Amino acid sequence: MKKTAAEVWTGCLSFIRDNVSPTSFKTWFEPIIPVKLEDNIITIQVPTQFFYEWLEEHYLTLLKSAIKKELGPDGKLEYSIVMAGSSASTSAYTTKVPPTDRRAVLNPAVNAPMDLSSSKTIRNPFVVPGLKQINIESNLIPSKNFDNFVEGDCNRLARSAGFAVSKNPGGTSFNPLLLYGGAGLGKTHLAHAIGIEIKKNFPDKIVLYIDADKFTRQFVDAVKNNSTNDFVNFYQLMDVLIIDDVHHLSGKEKTQDVFFHIFNHLHQNGKQIILTSDKPPVEIVGMEQRLLSRFKWGLSADLQMPELETRIAILKSKIYKDGIELPDEVLEYLGYSITSSVRELEGALISLLAQSSYNKKEITLELAKKIIDRFVKNTQREISIEYIQKVVCDYFKLSVDVIKSKTRKREVVQARQIAMYFAKSYTKFSLATIGAHCGGKDHATVLHACKTVNNLMETDKRFKAYVDELDKKINLNA
Ligand code: ADP
Ligand code: MG
Repeated sequence: MKKTAAEVWTGCLSFIRDNVSPTSFKTWFEPIIPVKLEDNIITIQVPTQFFYEWLEEHYLTLLKSAIKKELGPDGKLEYSIVMAGSSASTSAYTTKVPPTDRRAVLNPAVNAPMDLSSSKTIRNPFVVPGLKQINIESNLIPSKNFDNFVEGDCNRLARSAGFAVSKNPGGTSFNPLLLYGGAGLGKTHLAHAIGIEIKKNFPDKIVLYIDADKFTRQFVDAVKNNSTNDFVNFYQLMDVLIIDDVHHLSGKEKTQDVFFHIFNHLHQNGKQIILTSDKPPVEIVGMEQRLLSRFKWGLSADLQMPELETRIAILKSKIYKDGIELPDEVLEYLGYSITSSVRELEGALISLLAQSSYNKKEITLELAKKIIDRFVKNTQREISIEYIQKVVCDYFKLSVDVIKSKTRKREVVQARQIAMYFAKSYTKFSLATIGAHCGGKDHATVLHACKTVNNLMETDKRFKAYVDELDKKINLNA
Protein backbone atom coordinates (compact mmCIF):
# COMPACT_ATOMS: atom_id res chain seq x y z
CA MET A 1 0.00 0.00 0.00
CA LYS A 2 1.18 3.48 -0.81
CA LYS A 3 2.33 5.52 2.09
CA THR A 4 0.97 8.96 2.78
CA ALA A 5 3.05 12.07 3.26
CA ALA A 6 2.30 11.99 6.98
CA GLU A 7 3.47 8.41 7.33
CA VAL A 8 6.68 9.04 5.46
CA TRP A 9 7.35 12.14 7.50
CA THR A 10 6.70 10.30 10.77
CA GLY A 11 9.33 7.78 9.70
CA CYS A 12 11.74 10.57 8.91
CA LEU A 13 11.08 12.23 12.24
CA SER A 14 11.84 9.12 14.24
CA PHE A 15 15.17 8.85 12.48
CA ILE A 16 15.88 12.55 12.94
CA ARG A 17 14.91 12.47 16.61
CA ASP A 18 17.65 9.93 17.23
CA ASN A 19 20.22 12.20 15.69
CA VAL A 20 19.58 15.65 17.10
CA SER A 21 19.21 17.15 20.54
CA PRO A 22 15.67 17.35 21.97
CA THR A 23 15.78 21.15 21.83
CA SER A 24 16.80 21.19 18.20
CA PHE A 25 14.16 18.68 17.39
CA LYS A 26 11.51 20.76 19.09
CA THR A 27 12.70 23.98 17.45
CA TRP A 28 13.38 22.85 13.94
CA PHE A 29 11.41 19.71 13.23
CA GLU A 30 8.22 19.81 15.22
CA PRO A 31 6.90 22.87 13.39
CA ILE A 32 7.23 21.16 10.02
CA ILE A 33 4.03 19.99 8.36
CA PRO A 34 4.15 17.29 5.70
CA VAL A 35 1.84 18.39 2.91
CA LYS A 36 2.21 16.15 -0.10
CA LEU A 37 3.76 12.98 -1.43
CA GLU A 38 3.87 12.67 -5.16
CA ASP A 39 6.27 10.90 -7.52
CA ASN A 40 8.47 10.01 -4.60
CA ILE A 41 8.79 13.67 -3.71
CA ILE A 42 7.72 14.66 -0.27
CA THR A 43 6.78 18.27 0.26
CA ILE A 44 7.11 19.74 3.70
CA GLN A 45 5.85 23.07 4.81
CA VAL A 46 8.09 25.30 6.85
CA PRO A 47 7.06 28.55 8.53
CA THR A 48 9.61 30.95 7.08
CA GLN A 49 12.36 31.44 4.59
CA PHE A 50 14.81 31.69 7.43
CA PHE A 51 13.59 28.40 8.77
CA TYR A 52 14.21 26.77 5.42
CA GLU A 53 17.68 28.23 5.17
CA TRP A 54 18.52 27.08 8.64
CA LEU A 55 17.44 23.54 7.84
CA GLU A 56 19.50 23.55 4.67
CA GLU A 57 22.51 24.89 6.41
CA HIS A 58 22.47 22.67 9.45
CA TYR A 59 20.47 19.59 8.69
CA LEU A 60 20.87 18.91 4.99
CA THR A 61 22.80 15.67 5.42
CA LEU A 62 20.46 14.45 8.07
CA LEU A 63 17.41 15.23 5.94
CA LYS A 64 19.01 13.51 2.99
CA SER A 65 19.59 10.35 4.98
CA ALA A 66 16.13 10.37 6.46
CA ILE A 67 14.47 10.79 3.04
CA LYS A 68 16.67 8.13 1.53
CA LYS A 69 15.73 5.75 4.29
CA GLU A 70 12.02 6.35 3.84
CA LEU A 71 11.73 6.84 0.09
CA GLY A 72 14.77 5.11 -1.33
CA PRO A 73 17.57 6.60 -3.39
CA ASP A 74 15.16 8.38 -5.75
CA GLY A 75 13.42 10.16 -2.93
CA LYS A 76 13.33 13.90 -3.10
CA LEU A 77 12.39 16.71 -0.83
CA GLU A 78 10.65 19.92 -1.61
CA TYR A 79 9.94 22.77 0.69
CA SER A 80 6.90 24.83 0.80
CA ILE A 81 7.27 28.11 2.57
CA VAL A 82 4.40 30.04 4.04
CA MET A 83 4.28 33.40 2.34
CA ALA A 84 5.30 36.25 4.55
CA GLY A 85 2.71 38.96 4.87
CA SER A 86 0.10 36.99 3.03
CA SER A 87 -3.30 36.89 4.68
CA ALA A 88 -3.82 33.31 3.62
CA SER A 89 -0.99 32.25 5.78
CA THR A 90 -1.51 28.59 5.10
CA SER A 91 -1.17 28.90 1.36
CA ALA A 92 2.18 27.57 0.51
CA TYR A 93 4.23 28.39 -2.47
CA THR A 94 6.60 26.00 -4.10
CA THR A 95 8.28 25.56 -7.38
CA LYS A 96 9.17 22.22 -8.69
CA VAL A 97 12.40 21.39 -10.31
CA PRO A 98 11.82 19.22 -13.33
CA PRO A 99 12.58 15.59 -12.60
CA THR A 100 16.19 14.75 -13.09
CA ASP A 101 17.50 11.40 -14.11
CA ARG A 102 20.13 11.38 -11.43
CA ARG A 103 19.67 9.11 -8.53
CA ALA A 104 20.12 9.86 -4.91
CA VAL A 105 19.98 13.55 -5.45
CA LEU A 106 18.06 15.39 -2.88
CA ASN A 107 16.44 18.13 -4.71
CA PRO A 108 14.69 20.62 -2.54
CA ALA A 109 13.88 23.47 -4.77
CA VAL A 110 11.87 26.25 -3.32
CA ASN A 111 10.58 29.55 -4.24
CA ALA A 112 11.92 32.62 -2.57
CA PRO A 113 8.81 33.78 -0.84
CA MET A 114 10.43 36.72 0.90
CA ASP A 115 10.57 38.62 -2.29
CA LEU A 116 7.07 38.46 -3.57
CA SER A 117 7.91 40.24 -6.76
CA SER A 118 10.19 37.52 -7.99
CA SER A 119 7.71 34.93 -8.90
CA LYS A 120 9.91 32.21 -10.30
CA THR A 121 13.02 32.17 -8.21
CA ILE A 122 14.39 28.73 -7.64
CA ARG A 123 16.69 28.66 -4.70
CA ASN A 124 19.97 26.93 -4.73
CA PRO A 125 19.07 23.46 -3.54
CA PHE A 126 22.39 22.83 -1.86
CA VAL A 127 23.73 25.13 0.68
CA VAL A 128 26.96 26.27 -0.76
CA PRO A 129 28.23 29.30 1.05
CA GLY A 130 28.63 32.09 -1.40
CA LEU A 131 26.17 30.49 -3.74
CA LYS A 132 23.15 30.75 -1.58
CA GLN A 133 21.89 34.05 -2.84
CA ILE A 134 22.24 33.17 -6.47
CA ASN A 135 19.09 33.08 -8.48
CA ILE A 136 19.57 29.72 -10.06
CA GLU A 137 16.62 30.27 -12.26
CA SER A 138 18.82 31.89 -14.85
CA ASN A 139 20.74 35.11 -14.24
CA LEU A 140 19.56 36.08 -17.69
CA ILE A 141 19.15 39.70 -18.72
CA PRO A 142 15.82 40.05 -20.53
CA SER A 143 16.94 42.84 -22.83
CA LYS A 144 19.70 40.71 -24.31
CA ASN A 145 17.35 38.68 -26.45
CA PHE A 146 17.24 37.49 -30.03
CA ASP A 147 14.89 40.26 -31.13
CA ASN A 148 17.46 42.84 -30.13
CA PHE A 149 20.34 40.99 -31.68
CA VAL A 150 20.72 42.27 -35.20
CA GLU A 151 21.67 39.68 -37.74
CA GLY A 152 24.44 40.16 -40.28
CA ASP A 153 27.10 38.21 -42.14
CA CYS A 154 29.31 38.84 -39.12
CA ASN A 155 27.21 36.68 -36.83
CA ARG A 156 25.01 34.52 -39.06
CA LEU A 157 26.47 31.14 -38.15
CA ALA A 158 26.69 31.85 -34.43
CA ARG A 159 23.20 33.29 -34.36
CA SER A 160 21.55 30.47 -36.25
CA ALA A 161 23.44 27.81 -34.30
CA GLY A 162 22.29 29.51 -31.12
CA PHE A 163 18.77 29.55 -32.39
CA ALA A 164 18.91 25.85 -33.27
CA VAL A 165 20.23 25.06 -29.80
CA SER A 166 17.42 26.98 -28.18
CA LYS A 167 14.87 24.89 -30.07
CA ASN A 168 16.47 21.65 -28.94
CA PRO A 169 18.93 22.17 -26.10
CA GLY A 170 21.27 19.22 -25.67
CA GLY A 171 19.74 17.58 -28.68
CA THR A 172 21.80 19.02 -31.51
CA SER A 173 25.37 18.30 -32.44
CA PHE A 174 26.19 21.83 -31.29
CA ASN A 175 27.17 20.69 -27.84
CA PRO A 176 29.06 22.48 -26.52
CA LEU A 177 28.27 25.57 -28.50
CA LEU A 178 31.29 27.82 -28.26
CA LEU A 179 30.88 31.43 -29.34
CA TYR A 180 34.10 33.31 -29.81
CA GLY A 181 35.19 36.73 -30.96
CA GLY A 182 36.85 39.95 -29.82
CA ALA A 183 35.67 42.23 -27.05
CA GLY A 184 32.36 43.97 -27.55
CA LEU A 185 31.23 41.92 -30.53
CA GLY A 186 28.14 40.42 -28.93
CA LYS A 187 29.18 37.13 -27.30
CA THR A 188 27.53 37.88 -24.00
CA HIS A 189 24.43 39.25 -25.68
CA LEU A 190 24.03 36.16 -27.83
CA ALA A 191 24.67 33.81 -24.90
CA HIS A 192 21.86 35.49 -22.96
CA ALA A 193 19.60 35.43 -26.00
CA ILE A 194 19.99 31.66 -26.30
CA GLY A 195 19.26 31.19 -22.61
CA ILE A 196 16.19 33.41 -22.79
CA GLU A 197 14.89 31.58 -25.84
CA ILE A 198 15.37 28.23 -24.13
CA LYS A 199 13.43 29.44 -21.11
CA LYS A 200 10.70 30.61 -23.46
CA ASN A 201 10.52 27.27 -25.25
CA PHE A 202 11.11 25.09 -22.20
CA PRO A 203 10.07 26.93 -19.04
CA ASP A 204 10.87 23.91 -16.87
CA LYS A 205 14.47 23.62 -17.88
CA ILE A 206 17.03 24.85 -15.42
CA VAL A 207 19.17 27.36 -17.23
CA LEU A 208 22.09 29.07 -15.60
CA TYR A 209 24.20 31.88 -16.95
CA ILE A 210 27.43 32.58 -15.14
CA ASP A 211 30.70 34.17 -16.11
CA ALA A 212 33.87 32.21 -15.64
CA ASP A 213 35.26 34.61 -13.03
CA LYS A 214 32.28 34.20 -10.80
CA PHE A 215 32.38 30.48 -11.30
CA THR A 216 36.01 30.53 -10.19
CA ARG A 217 35.27 32.61 -7.11
CA GLN A 218 32.47 30.28 -6.10
CA PHE A 219 34.73 27.32 -6.51
CA VAL A 220 37.47 28.91 -4.42
CA ASP A 221 34.92 29.60 -1.70
CA ALA A 222 33.65 26.05 -1.90
CA VAL A 223 37.16 24.73 -1.41
CA LYS A 224 37.61 27.02 1.57
CA ASN A 225 34.37 25.82 3.07
CA ASN A 226 34.96 22.20 2.34
CA SER A 227 31.93 22.03 0.14
CA THR A 228 33.26 21.20 -3.29
CA ASN A 229 30.88 18.27 -3.56
CA ASP A 230 27.93 20.56 -3.10
CA PHE A 231 29.41 22.90 -5.65
CA VAL A 232 29.73 20.13 -8.22
CA ASN A 233 26.31 18.71 -7.44
CA PHE A 234 24.78 22.11 -7.85
CA TYR A 235 26.22 22.61 -11.30
CA GLN A 236 25.37 19.10 -12.33
CA LEU A 237 21.71 19.92 -11.80
CA MET A 238 21.64 22.27 -14.76
CA ASP A 239 19.88 21.47 -17.98
CA VAL A 240 21.62 24.31 -19.71
CA LEU A 241 24.86 25.77 -18.42
CA ILE A 242 26.14 28.97 -19.99
CA ILE A 243 29.68 29.96 -19.06
CA ASP A 244 30.73 33.36 -20.33
CA ASP A 245 34.37 34.23 -21.03
CA VAL A 246 35.61 30.72 -20.42
CA HIS A 247 39.12 31.81 -21.40
CA HIS A 248 39.30 33.41 -17.95
CA LEU A 249 39.81 29.90 -16.62
CA SER A 250 43.24 29.96 -18.26
CA GLY A 251 45.96 29.06 -15.81
CA LYS A 252 43.44 28.10 -13.13
CA GLU A 253 44.11 24.40 -13.00
CA LYS A 254 41.91 23.42 -10.09
CA THR A 255 38.92 25.28 -11.46
CA GLN A 256 39.50 23.72 -14.86
CA ASP A 257 39.59 20.36 -13.21
CA VAL A 258 36.26 20.78 -11.49
CA PHE A 259 34.77 22.27 -14.64
CA PHE A 260 36.00 19.24 -16.56
CA HIS A 261 33.96 16.95 -14.31
CA ILE A 262 30.88 19.11 -14.49
CA PHE A 263 31.24 19.34 -18.25
CA ASN A 264 31.49 15.57 -18.63
CA HIS A 265 28.51 14.92 -16.41
CA LEU A 266 26.31 17.39 -18.23
CA HIS A 267 27.43 16.30 -21.66
CA GLN A 268 26.92 12.63 -20.91
CA ASN A 269 23.43 13.35 -19.68
CA GLY A 270 22.49 15.25 -22.80
CA LYS A 271 22.53 18.63 -21.13
CA GLN A 272 23.43 21.70 -23.15
CA ILE A 273 26.63 23.60 -22.57
CA ILE A 274 27.19 27.05 -24.05
CA LEU A 275 30.54 28.76 -23.77
CA THR A 276 31.98 32.05 -24.91
CA SER A 277 35.60 32.90 -25.37
CA ASP A 278 37.66 35.70 -26.84
CA LYS A 279 39.57 33.20 -28.98
CA PRO A 280 38.91 29.96 -30.82
CA PRO A 281 39.84 26.86 -28.78
CA VAL A 282 43.15 26.32 -30.60
CA GLU A 283 44.38 29.71 -29.49
CA ILE A 284 43.40 29.57 -25.84
CA VAL A 285 46.59 29.21 -23.84
CA GLY A 286 46.84 27.95 -20.30
CA MET A 287 43.88 25.62 -20.74
CA GLU A 288 44.12 21.88 -20.20
CA GLN A 289 44.25 19.89 -23.39
CA ARG A 290 41.42 17.60 -22.37
CA LEU A 291 39.16 20.61 -21.90
CA LEU A 292 40.20 22.20 -25.17
CA SER A 293 39.49 18.99 -27.03
CA ARG A 294 36.04 18.88 -25.47
CA PHE A 295 35.40 22.47 -26.46
CA LYS A 296 35.88 21.28 -30.02
CA TRP A 297 33.33 18.47 -29.77
CA GLY A 298 30.44 20.66 -30.70
CA LEU A 299 30.44 23.78 -32.77
CA SER A 300 32.73 26.79 -32.50
CA ALA A 301 31.17 29.79 -34.18
CA ASP A 302 32.76 33.19 -34.39
CA LEU A 303 31.42 36.69 -34.11
CA GLN A 304 33.08 39.28 -36.30
CA MET A 305 32.88 43.04 -36.34
CA PRO A 306 29.67 43.82 -38.21
CA GLU A 307 30.03 45.22 -41.70
CA LEU A 308 28.86 48.76 -42.38
CA GLU A 309 25.23 47.93 -43.17
CA THR A 310 24.87 45.82 -40.06
CA ARG A 311 26.46 48.55 -37.97
CA ILE A 312 23.88 50.99 -39.24
CA ALA A 313 21.11 48.46 -38.66
CA ILE A 314 22.30 48.01 -35.07
CA LEU A 315 22.28 51.77 -34.52
CA LYS A 316 18.79 51.99 -35.99
CA SER A 317 17.49 49.23 -33.78
CA LYS A 318 18.93 50.91 -30.68
CA ILE A 319 17.40 54.31 -31.37
CA TYR A 320 14.15 52.77 -32.48
CA LYS A 321 13.91 51.00 -29.16
CA ASP A 322 14.38 54.30 -27.36
CA GLY A 323 11.93 56.10 -29.62
CA ILE A 324 14.52 58.50 -30.97
CA GLU A 325 14.96 59.69 -34.50
CA LEU A 326 18.25 60.59 -36.08
CA PRO A 327 19.05 61.73 -39.61
CA ASP A 328 20.30 58.89 -41.79
CA GLU A 329 23.47 60.77 -42.59
CA VAL A 330 24.34 60.88 -38.91
CA LEU A 331 23.80 57.15 -38.49
CA GLU A 332 25.86 56.48 -41.57
CA TYR A 333 28.64 58.64 -40.30
CA LEU A 334 28.65 56.84 -36.96
CA GLY A 335 28.58 53.45 -38.61
CA TYR A 336 31.32 54.45 -40.96
CA SER A 337 33.60 55.86 -38.25
CA ILE A 338 33.40 53.26 -35.52
CA THR A 339 34.98 50.04 -36.67
CA SER A 340 36.37 48.65 -33.43
CA SER A 341 33.41 46.98 -31.73
CA VAL A 342 29.66 47.10 -31.28
CA ARG A 343 30.20 48.23 -27.72
CA GLU A 344 32.10 51.30 -28.92
CA LEU A 345 29.47 51.90 -31.54
CA GLU A 346 26.87 52.02 -28.78
CA GLY A 347 29.15 54.19 -26.69
CA ALA A 348 29.50 56.70 -29.51
CA LEU A 349 25.75 56.81 -30.03
CA ILE A 350 25.15 57.36 -26.33
CA SER A 351 27.66 60.17 -26.07
CA LEU A 352 26.16 61.81 -29.11
CA LEU A 353 22.67 61.64 -27.62
CA ALA A 354 23.95 62.86 -24.27
CA GLN A 355 25.79 65.81 -25.78
CA SER A 356 22.82 66.88 -27.81
CA SER A 357 20.39 66.77 -24.94
CA TYR A 358 22.82 68.42 -22.57
CA ASN A 359 23.53 71.28 -24.94
CA LYS A 360 20.01 71.27 -26.33
CA LYS A 361 21.44 71.04 -29.80
CA GLU A 362 19.87 69.28 -32.69
CA ILE A 363 21.84 66.31 -33.84
CA THR A 364 23.32 67.25 -37.15
CA LEU A 365 26.06 65.69 -39.16
CA GLU A 366 28.33 68.48 -38.03
CA LEU A 367 27.73 67.84 -34.34
CA ALA A 368 28.19 64.12 -34.94
CA LYS A 369 31.50 64.73 -36.64
CA LYS A 370 32.72 66.90 -33.81
CA ILE A 371 31.82 64.42 -31.12
CA ILE A 372 32.72 61.25 -32.92
CA ASP A 373 36.13 62.47 -34.00
CA ARG A 374 36.93 63.15 -30.39
CA PHE A 375 35.47 59.83 -29.40
CA VAL A 376 37.42 57.86 -31.96
CA LYS A 377 40.65 59.57 -31.01
CA ASN A 378 40.04 58.70 -27.40
CA THR A 379 39.30 55.09 -27.95
CA GLN A 380 41.84 54.13 -30.54
CA ARG A 381 45.15 54.67 -28.89
CA GLU A 382 47.97 55.23 -31.32
CA ILE A 383 50.77 52.76 -31.51
CA SER A 384 54.10 54.57 -31.26
CA ILE A 385 57.52 53.60 -32.54
CA GLU A 386 58.79 53.51 -28.95
CA TYR A 387 56.05 51.15 -27.99
CA ILE A 388 56.85 48.79 -30.85
CA GLN A 389 60.53 48.89 -29.96
CA LYS A 390 59.76 48.01 -26.40
CA VAL A 391 57.58 45.01 -27.32
CA VAL A 392 60.14 43.71 -29.81
CA CYS A 393 63.06 44.15 -27.40
CA ASP A 394 61.19 42.50 -24.53
CA TYR A 395 60.48 39.61 -26.83
CA PHE A 396 64.11 39.13 -27.85
CA LYS A 397 65.37 40.04 -24.39
CA LEU A 398 67.37 42.99 -25.63
CA SER A 399 67.53 46.44 -24.11
CA VAL A 400 65.80 49.15 -26.11
CA ASP A 401 69.04 51.12 -26.23
CA VAL A 402 70.81 48.60 -28.45
CA ILE A 403 68.11 48.85 -31.10
CA LYS A 404 68.54 52.60 -31.12
CA SER A 405 72.32 52.25 -31.27
CA LYS A 406 74.34 51.67 -34.40
CA THR A 407 75.53 48.19 -33.48
CA ARG A 408 75.51 45.63 -36.30
CA LYS A 409 75.41 42.50 -34.17
CA ARG A 410 73.32 39.93 -35.95
CA GLU A 411 70.59 39.45 -33.36
CA VAL A 412 70.26 43.19 -32.91
CA VAL A 413 70.05 43.77 -36.65
CA GLN A 414 67.18 41.34 -36.96
CA ALA A 415 65.24 42.77 -34.01
CA ARG A 416 65.78 46.26 -35.42
CA GLN A 417 64.49 45.18 -38.80
CA ILE A 418 61.39 43.68 -37.26
CA ALA A 419 60.77 46.85 -35.27
CA MET A 420 61.10 48.89 -38.47
CA TYR A 421 58.71 46.57 -40.24
CA PHE A 422 56.05 46.98 -37.54
CA ALA A 423 56.64 50.71 -37.32
CA LYS A 424 55.96 50.91 -41.04
CA SER A 425 52.76 48.86 -40.76
CA TYR A 426 51.38 50.42 -37.63
CA THR A 427 52.36 54.08 -37.70
CA LYS A 428 51.99 56.83 -40.22
CA PHE A 429 55.63 57.89 -39.88
CA SER A 430 57.80 58.20 -42.95
CA LEU A 431 60.56 55.71 -43.67
CA ALA A 432 63.09 58.41 -42.80
CA THR A 433 61.52 59.13 -39.42
CA ILE A 434 61.37 55.45 -38.59
CA GLY A 435 65.03 55.09 -39.57
CA ALA A 436 66.00 58.03 -37.41
CA HIS A 437 64.42 56.31 -34.40
CA CYS A 438 66.15 53.03 -35.11
CA GLY A 439 69.85 53.66 -34.92
CA GLY A 440 69.96 56.67 -37.25
CA LYS A 441 69.32 54.68 -40.44
CA ASP A 442 68.17 56.24 -43.71
CA HIS A 443 64.93 55.56 -45.53
CA ALA A 444 66.51 52.99 -47.87
CA THR A 445 67.62 50.88 -44.92
CA VAL A 446 64.10 50.88 -43.52
CA LEU A 447 62.67 49.90 -46.89
CA HIS A 448 65.22 47.12 -47.14
CA ALA A 449 64.29 45.96 -43.62
CA CYS A 450 60.60 45.75 -44.53
CA LYS A 451 61.39 43.72 -47.65
CA THR A 452 63.69 41.40 -45.73
CA VAL A 453 61.08 40.71 -43.08
CA ASN A 454 58.45 40.07 -45.74
CA ASN A 455 60.74 37.68 -47.59
CA LEU A 456 61.76 35.81 -44.49
CA MET A 457 58.15 35.42 -43.46
CA GLU A 458 57.40 33.75 -46.75
CA THR A 459 60.33 31.36 -46.59
CA ASP A 460 60.99 30.70 -42.92
CA LYS A 461 58.13 29.24 -40.92
CA ARG A 462 59.79 29.77 -37.59
CA PHE A 463 60.56 33.37 -38.35
CA LYS A 464 56.97 33.89 -39.39
CA ALA A 465 55.79 32.42 -36.09
CA TYR A 466 57.94 34.96 -34.20
CA VAL A 467 56.56 37.83 -36.18
CA ASP A 468 52.97 36.65 -35.83
CA GLU A 469 53.37 36.31 -32.12
CA LEU A 470 54.87 39.76 -31.87
CA ASP A 471 52.06 41.10 -33.97
CA LYS A 472 49.58 39.79 -31.45
CA LYS A 473 51.50 41.23 -28.54
CA ILE A 474 51.62 44.65 -30.14
CA ASN A 475 47.90 44.58 -30.83
CA LEU A 476 46.99 43.16 -27.47
CA ASN A 477 48.54 45.87 -25.40
CA ALA A 478 47.86 48.73 -27.72
P1 ADP B 1 31.15 40.69 -25.79
O1 ADP B 1 30.54 39.81 -24.77
O2 ADP B 1 31.49 39.97 -27.05
O3 ADP B 1 32.30 41.50 -25.29
P2 ADP B 1 28.59 42.06 -25.66
O4 ADP B 1 27.69 40.92 -25.90
O5 ADP B 1 28.70 42.56 -24.29
O6 ADP B 1 30.05 41.76 -26.24
O7 ADP B 1 28.15 43.22 -26.66
C1 ADP B 1 28.52 44.58 -26.48
C2 ADP B 1 27.34 45.47 -26.76
O8 ADP B 1 27.02 45.42 -28.15
C3 ADP B 1 26.11 45.02 -26.02
O9 ADP B 1 25.42 46.13 -25.54
C4 ADP B 1 25.29 44.30 -27.07
O10 ADP B 1 23.92 44.41 -26.81
C5 ADP B 1 25.67 45.03 -28.34
N1 ADP B 1 25.63 44.16 -29.53
C6 ADP B 1 26.62 43.33 -29.96
N2 ADP B 1 26.25 42.71 -31.09
C7 ADP B 1 25.01 43.13 -31.38
C8 ADP B 1 24.08 42.85 -32.43
N3 ADP B 1 24.37 42.00 -33.43
N4 ADP B 1 22.90 43.47 -32.40
C9 ADP B 1 22.61 44.35 -31.43
N5 ADP B 1 23.41 44.67 -30.42
C10 ADP B 1 24.61 44.06 -30.38
MG1 MG C 1 31.12 39.53 -22.78
